[in-house]
Amino acid sequence: MEFLRPATWEEALAVKAQHPSAVPIAGGTDVMVELNFDRRRPDALVDLNRIRELHEWRIEDDDTVRLGASVPYARIIEALHDRLPGLSLGARTVGSPQIRNRGSVGGNLGGASPAGDAHPPLLASGATVEAASVRGTRLIPIDDFYLGVKRNALEPDELIRAVHIPSATGPQQFAKIGTRNAMVIAVCSFAVALHPHTRDVRTGIGSAAPTPRRAREAEEFIRAELDESGLWTSGGELPRAAARRFGELVAGAAAPIDDVRGSAAYRRHALAVLARRTLLWTWNDHRATGRAAA
Ligand SMILES: Cc1cc2nc3c(=O)[nH]c(=O)nc-3n(C[C@H](O)[C@H](O)[C@H](O)COP(=O)(O)OP(=O)(O)OC[C@H]3O[C@@H](n4cnc5c(N)ncnc54)[C@H](O)[C@@H]3O)c2cc1C
Repeated sequence: MEFLRPATWEEALAVKAQHPSAVPIAGGTDVMVELNFDRRRPDALVDLNRIRELHEWRIEDDDTVRLGASVPYARIIEALHDRLPGLSLGARTVGSPQIRNRGSVGGNLGGASPAGDAHPPLLASGATVEAASVRGTRLIPIDDFYLGVKRNALEPDELIRAVHIPSATGPQQFAKIGTRNAMVIAVCSFAVALHPHTRDVRTGIGSAAPTPRRAREAEEFIRAELDESGLWTSGGELPRAAARRFGELVAGAAAPIDDVRGSAAYRRHALAVLARRTLLWTWNDHRATGRAAA
């Protein structure tokens, strides 16, 4: 197996163009497991660890966080929990401290596992994936990124350079069910983000369909409910019945399977509960911070 170690981003793109089947390695927390268990035996690995910029993040003029593909979860939790609360909550549930020190959002996107914990918050935030090759750069809306089980929209010669994530303008939540408290692949997970400036609510479902996905009917329902009852303006309490209906619609948007981690029926039930609870938490946070009156 060849081990290719580009020193710059341009070199990495050139290497990937020459060896489209070469497997990129960032933190290696997925790749090394696949190699060690002989699930994958690529001709070549492209080590991205010498490329400094992939480990950096910055705030753009429009208040979007441009997160380098290899920034580890631990740094997101430490430095970006205010701006990206949903993603930080998701990051906190990833593996163990060792995994959070190495694992990255770029690696989660590269693997595109339906159970990846970064995906639901990225969907709820409305993130964009910056992909590049020697042919140029593409900005892929997160809604178009996941194509199937462990399949994403990257072309064979493309690499993820960064993820653009709008800074939160309202409360965000992430909740995950596992078979134990830590070091666990999600049985199912859910993220919700309130966007008060556009009076929008966005969602992300994890581990309950072939790809991470949004619950669009639930989003439309709660958007209409908040608008028609004037709650964005009054800052009133969210009726329990509305939260319950939201939960049912989220469960209805899932397409879960029975597997070793849980049954499809349990996943649907759990999603309805997670969605109802996280919506109420975010709405109550929104009221408490006084934004509702603004
Ligand atoms: C013990 C353990 C516990 C774990 N727990 C969790 C968990 O709780 N939640 C969770 O979501 N995941 C978990 N994982 C999986 C893993 O840690 C995450 O998926 C992590 O985000 C992978 O990031 P990485 O940088 O290590 O990726 P890598 O392993 O380096 O790469 C993962 C995939 O992405 C591709 N890739 C990496 N960088 C790029 C790039 N810039 N452009 C294109 N493709 C790229 C690689 O080729 C590979 O296919 C766990 C793994 C282990 C070993």
